[in-house]
Amino acid sequence: MSIKIKHTENSSFSKVDFDNLPFGQIVSDHMFEMDFKDGKWQEPIIRPVEKFSIHPANLTLHYGQSIFEGMKASRHHDGTPLLFRLDKHAERLNASADRMCMPMVAEDLFYEAIETLVDLDRAWIPLRDGSALYIRPFMFATDEFIGVRPSLDYKFVIFTCPVGPYYSRPVSLIAEEKYVRATPGGVGEAKTAGNYAASLYPVKVAKEKGYDQVMWMDPFEFKYIQEVGTMNIFFKMGGKVYTPDLNGTILKGVTRDTVIHILNDEGYEVIEGPLSKDQVLEAHKNGTLEEVFGSGTAAVISFVNKLAFGDTIIHLDPEAFKTAPFLKSYIEGLRSGRKMDRFGWIKRVESLEMAH
Ligand SMILES: *Cc1c(COP(=O)(O)O)cnc(C)c1O
Repeated sequence: MSIKIKHTENSSFSKVDFDNLPFGQIVSDHMFEMDFKDGKWQEPIIRPVEKFSIHPANLTLHYGQSIFEGMKASRHHDGTPLLFRLDKHAERLNASADRMCMPMVAEDLFYEAIETLVDLDRAWIPLRDGSALYIRPFMFATDEFIGVRPSLDYKFVIFTCPVGPYYSRPVSLIAEEKYVRATPGGVGEAKTAGNYAASLYPVKVAKEKGYDQVMWMDPFEFKYIQEVGTMNIFFKMGGKVYTPDLNGTILKGVTRDTVIHILNDEGYEVIEGPLSKDQVLEAHKNGTLEEVFGSGTAAVISFVNKLAFGDTIIHLDPEAFKTAPFLKSYIEGLRSGRKMDRFGWIKRVESLEMAH
């Protein structure tokens, strides 16, 4: 398949201050677009970023049939764009699509779309260490119809945003005791819009209490830890690393999987399983709670400096963390090509233009 390209005649590149890139606000010149109609994907195109016009009866606006992905292209120190674990993102996009009754995107086309788009807008990948081009693929229903049923037509789009080094201030978390994110049989494992809409109110309440994010708990007893915002969560206790297992209520983070692979490779014992707050409180009490950190594409690894379970507030000192900073620099090392890619996770985007 070859993707038709319509180049921009009005690049906004020269207007962007690449030393000051607020996350998610600057969009690069081109986007990939492909419509699903008459039961099949139509011809894909890469074209200048433009607004869509939306009908008032658009199904997505009313019933939320919509999914997304998030990944980053970084630069090798020789300048070549690098993509990280694209296969995992393709797999998850299609798992989300399946759960939301949406059509699959062929993995080969997904790879080609991203590689072509990143190649075309390669100048938009910031050069500074820790910067990246954030890639946002998403799909939404386009039927114009008021009624709850799967849409017949869809739009699949990929656009990109240059992002600076994610300001990695440590985060404070509060274990949620009233609201839930996901329940067995629900859509917690899908990267679908409604999960995030549903989180806004609890997070607003947590912010009013002085916390950055809520830590989601199981919906029955509020006893077992799930995850945080757009991060999976890890606890280092007594030299071992614990993280909740993927039981259908937790988003299958690519960074989570990356962390587990690296830790296993480094000889750590990683325990994936039900993780209760009692276990964490016990470790805190007997002095074996060493580190708490989150994993996600945007911030890579986030250090947790405060964690509240009801009235019990645990303070942690990220300055004393060893494993979390090691993981952060390991993953950033892979993304800049400085660290050997021993797991085969990196794909170089060679310039197509130069090959002509
Ligand atoms: C995207 C996301 C994550 C992190 O996934 P990565 O693939 O590591 O970026 C974790 N939790 C939720 C709810 C998410 O949406």
